[in-house]
Amino acid sequence: MQSFVKFILKPGVPHRVLKGHLWIYQTEIAAREGQPADGDTVDVFDPRRRFAARGYYNSRSQIAVRVLARRPVDLNEAFWRERLNRAIAYRDERLPDRPTRRLVASEADLLPGLIVDQYGDQLVLQTTTLGMDQRKDMWVNLLDERLRPKAILENNEASTRRLEGLEPRKGVLRGQSDGITRTRIGRTEFICNLLDAHKTGFYLDQQVNYEQVAKYVKPSMRVLDAFCHLAGFARHALLAGAGEAVAVDSSEPSIGYARQSAVQAGIAGQLDLRCENAFDFLRAAQIRREPFDLIVLDPPSFTRSRQAVPEALRGYKEIHVRALKLLKPGGILFTFCCSHHISRDAFQQVILEAAADTGVLVRREASLDASPDHPVLPAVPETEYLKGFVFSVVELFR
Ligand code: SAH
Repeated sequence: MQSFVKFILKPGVPHRVLKGHLWIYQTEIAAREGQPADGDTVDVFDPRRRFAARGYYNSRSQIAVRVLARRPVDLNEAFWRERLNRAIAYRDERLPDRPTRRLVASEADLLPGLIVDQYGDQLVLQTTTLGMDQRKDMWVNLLDERLRPKAILENNEASTRRLEGLEPRKGVLRGQSDGITRTRIGRTEFICNLLDAHKTGFYLDQQVNYEQVAKYVKPSMRVLDAFCHLAGFARHALLAGAGEAVAVDSSEPSIGYARQSAVQAGIAGQLDLRCENAFDFLRAAQIRREPFDLIVLDPPSFTRSRQAVPEALRGYKEIHVRALKLLKPGGILFTFCCSHHISRDAFQQVILEAAADTGVLVRREASLDASPDHPVLPAVPETEYLKGFVFSVVELFR
């Protein structure tokens, strides 16, 4: 059943939805005709009462409406099935032959609030909005019908659910699974816990970036993978012929699964996995005068808000100063920032400040993005968060 509740947008305000964004805030709405229940479909009209969008509503969120279409289409099961099929087709074209990938990336696939990750024959669902959470059973049916997975799980612990009035939940929705799986990511296999606190068990957005490491690795190189989770970068560096790698993460479960994966792959002898604070590790390595040929920095977001950006930039600068001090002349730095609030330019600026303070010059070898299964819609800037660079140290003044 479609509800034909009408919302009229305020006059004289620039509405991002009219330029392709998919969010409408409560504060943008001037008038309402009808009383929608949370999760119901609503129609939104511009200030001149022309149809603008159809979406779903939540009174409990600051984002009142998540837009699904700019035409008054029927939001029936065929509509959702078509959106899902399009999302899967996009991955099949851009990332073929990958058993592990993000199949649905929320707004970027015009399915706001729905994330589906595929780990081989298991799927993990995240419903981050009330509208999608209410439709969870339908998604399980559609995914089952389309992909026939062994199990469908939900890992719904993202803190953003609270903003929608949703409780954290995790478990198996269909089929059988203990949450542990072994699957290929990039060019090698990992043991992942799909009910883990980290995303849905893995940071799939880095998958294609692992493969960039091979371009820079030479035999006998020493590699540091800082903020490593399951040590995807270190594992790919070893695979490309690096002599040894150290991988550091402060999360015990991450290091535990990284170790199991390394043992399984038969490379545990070359991979020194350490459960410690990466800031402390970098400081101690400097005191020990323990240089590296290639360093990866992939910290968590240092800021979730615009207000905390200056402090976050200080954190980014500190790890870059430390890493640049540890890099040998000619060394390679892979560095990432996953904070939506810090632009690529601001991120590069911080690295340049760190280089100047350290007395080195860096050459930019590459600019990196999230893997193509995490598409970016520039009209919805929130879909872009991960940015990275590869730099080489070209000259030393020190
Ligand atoms: N590079 C990883 C993803 C990193 S996500 C990959 O390719 O999968 C950020 C990681 O930093 C998380 O695993 C988190 O546990 C870890 N982390 C957060 N704070 C840390 C700290 N102070 N020191 C070391 N690791 C930290």
